[in-house]
Amino acid sequence: MAGAIASPAALPAPDAIGQLAADSTPAGCDALARHLLGALDARFAAERAAGAPIACVAGCTFCCHQRVGVFPHEAAALHRYLRTRLSPSEATAIEQRILGNAARIDALSADEHRRANIACAFLQDGRCSAYAVRPQACAAYHSTSRPHCEYAYEHPDDMGTPKNARPALLELKLFSAALLDNTRAGLGAVGLPAAKGELHQLLRDLIEGA
Ligand code: SF4
Repeated sequence: MAGAIASPAALPAPDAIGQLAADSTPAGCDALARHLLGALDARFAAERAAGAPIACVAGCTFCCHQRVGVFPHEAAALHRYLRTRLSPSEATAIEQRILGNAARIDALSADEHRRANIACAFLQDGRCSAYAVRPQACAAYHSTSRPHCEYAYEHPDDMGTPKNARPALLELKLFSAALLDNTRAGLGAVGLPAAKGELHQLLRDLIEGA
């Protein structure tokens, strides 16, 4: 189990989130996404430093085949990253995968999608192409057992059963849940939608609208 808890001040407050969210330009969305991601990453780093048995390592990508829900500002940050931080050839390849995945996901129910093991469009050579602005859901996701993640990946039909339950750390689950609550409160405070959408479908809207 994890050791010392990082300072509670590391949890961004709704007011601060709302102030950042008020700038709904792509640059503003990028700043908000990075601010929240920074808080999550700092908390995970503190837990790791305290000896938390987090099994996640670079190159382990089972969870990058799951359905990912993103806030609109996160989709905007990912889109901005695609267009400004990646090479044209890499961005084009990712956009094609986004469009292909979105079309495939359109034909699936959410549960069917969760069982389909569709590789995220940003997954490239075992790494996240947009790691610096990956969604909160990705950054918060963790496991203390790689075999459990591998089993869940290999047996998607066992989803929701104890067989593929993911062991995770209570401290990090609570922090992530609090950050999610504060994010929704901060977005709501400035009148922005706090509902999430499927990653590829929201990115497709931005690609086609650009
Ligand atoms: S955005 Fe990155 S971390 Fe999240 S599922 Fe896609 S490849 Fe994985």
